[in-house]
Formats: sequence, C-alpha cells, structure tokens
Amino acid sequence: MIKPIDPNSMNQTAASKPAVEKPALDRRALDRRALDRRVALVTGGIGGLGSEICRQLALAGREVVAVDLAARGERAAAFHEEVASFGGSIRFEPADVSDFDSCQQLIARIEQQHGSVDILVNAAGITRDASLRKMSPQQWHELMRVNLDGVFNMCRNVVDGMTERGFGRIVNISSVNGQTGQFGQTNYSAAKAGVHGFSMALARETARKGVTVNTVSPGYCDTPMVAAVSAEIRAQIIADIPVGRLGAPADIARAVKFLAADDAGYITGANLPVNGGYFMSF
Ligand code: NAD
Repeated sequence: MIKPIDPNSMNQTAASKPAVEKPALDRRALDRRALDRRVALVTGGIGGLGSEICRQLALAGREVVAVDLAARGERAAAFHEEVASFGGSIRFEPADVSDFDSCQQLIARIEQQHGSVDILVNAAGITRDASLRKMSPQQWHELMRVNLDGVFNMCRNVVDGMTERGFGRIVNISSVNGQTGQFGQTNYSAAKAGVHGFSMALARETARKGVTVNTVSPGYCDTPMVAAVSAEIRAQIIADIPVGRLGAPADIARAVKFLAADDAGYITGANLPVNGGYFMSF
C-alpha cells in the first residue's frame, strides 16, 4: 500500500520548518485599489443586452453606471431591484444619447463624482423598420439620431478624459445586420455599419494614448427587440443559426467584458461577431 506523504516529515519536522511568511494585509493598498476601480458607462444600460453587460462588468470589479432614458422610470425601478445584490456598484443615470448636451452633462456629472470614465459601452439602440419605399424621413432620422449620433455624442464627451489619463476602453454595439444588410432595415443596417467605420477611425486616433475602440456585432439575441418579430420569422431565424439557438444576453456581455479588460490593450479597431455562426467572415 502506498503511504500518503506527510509533507512535514520529508526533510524537517513541523517544529523546525521555517514559518511561511504571510504578507501583511496592506489596508492602504486595498483602499487605493477600491478607489482605483474603473468606472464603466453602459448606454441602453437597462435594456435587454445592456442590463446583462452592466452585471458582467460589475462582476469584473467595475463601478458601473447604466445610462438610459429618463422616461423609462418604471423599467429603471425594476432594474434597480434586479441589481440590488451588487451592493451599489451598479447605478442608474438618466440621459438621452441622441442629445449632445444631455451626454455632455452626464459625463461632467460622472467625472465629478468618480474622477473618470474609463470604459464606455454604447448599447443604446432602436429600430424603425420599413422597406425603403415606405420609409419616412422621420423613421430614418430618428434611428440615425440614436444609433449613430448617439455613439458620436458619447464618444466625443469621454475621449479627451481617456486620452489625457492614458487609458480607455470603448466598445460599440453594432449588429450582424450592419455586416449583411437586412430587408426593411436600410436605416438600421446603415447606422450599424457606420458604427464600425466610426470605431475604426477613432481607434486610429486614440491608439497611442492607451484607448482602444472596438465593436461587438451580435446576431439575433433573446431580447425584447427580437421578441417583437413574429413567431414564424423567429423560427426561420433560428433555423438559419448554425449553433441552433438565439444568442443569450450573457453571450454578448462576455464579449464586451473581454474587450473592456485592462489587458485587452492590443485589440483595437476590431469587430467581434457574436452570432452563433449565422454570418461567418474574416
Ligand atoms: P433593447 O431595446 O432591449 O435596449 C435598448 C435600450 O436603449 C433601451 O433600454 C432603450 O430605452 C435605450 N435607448 C433607446 N433610445 C435611447 C436614447 N435616446 N438614449 C438613451 N437610451 C436609449 O435592445 P437590446 O436588444 O438590448 O439592444 C441593445 C443594442 O444591441 C442595440 O444597439 C441593438 O441595436 C443591438 N443589437 C441587438 C440585437 C438583438 O438581437 N437584441 C442584435 C444585434 C444588435
């Protein structure tokens, strides 16, 4: 029978063994680390994908601010309940990303409270579907104001702080439909393709300042946005996804968390598709 090895009996007795020195807990270092917590802003932060992105970033130790429309007070209250277990590391701030001044005031508020905005995730988005022949200028402009101007309005207001401090992570949520085009979505597809063009250009402008800018392009996900399509079209979509299911918000949130990490500094100007194989390219 093999006798279990007693580590204390190998060379020396427990008594003669030098005591393993445990590093003293550096309270001041811990406090400093707490103060140094990166601040992450997530627009559309109480939406289907945004709320899971907030949770994943908080689990990664970020101080998270979920930004969404003031008009969604009821949903904001429910969100507050949902994230109560995070002990205050996720909170809500109202702002309208389609309004430059609203974004400017928001960033000024956050920087005053926290000193910095280190991570920005632009997930606010809307759809205004119609074939081009039926699309009104209002449907076109409303969508552009949120899905594309919103990305400009937020990035424009955080970029100086990030480059001055020498650190930043910007993750813009695009869409597979920006890569492939989609019937009834000339406005949405144009805005989402625009988001990636914007991200590549900004990535070049900020690369030497420690600021990365990337896009995540979700495929079809199990969120209210997709629940709005008919059951028949939904079944058709799932049949076309090689993985055989809709994406879960956590699938997207994990990709965002990866790109927002401190050690993801060599990935910039990239698009990370998270679509279950629905659209493969390279
Ligand atoms: P959602 O509708 O659940 O959430 C979007 C959020 O954006 C909402 O909470 C809404 O209130 C907020 N919002 C809208 N207009 C705003 C404004 N002017 N200012 C601030 N907030 C505003 O949608 P979702 O499914 O969570 O989508 C999130 C992002 O992912 C969107 O950009 C969407 O285009 C993109 N996307 C979603 C899917 C999907 O399958 N759900 C697929 C590809 C891309």
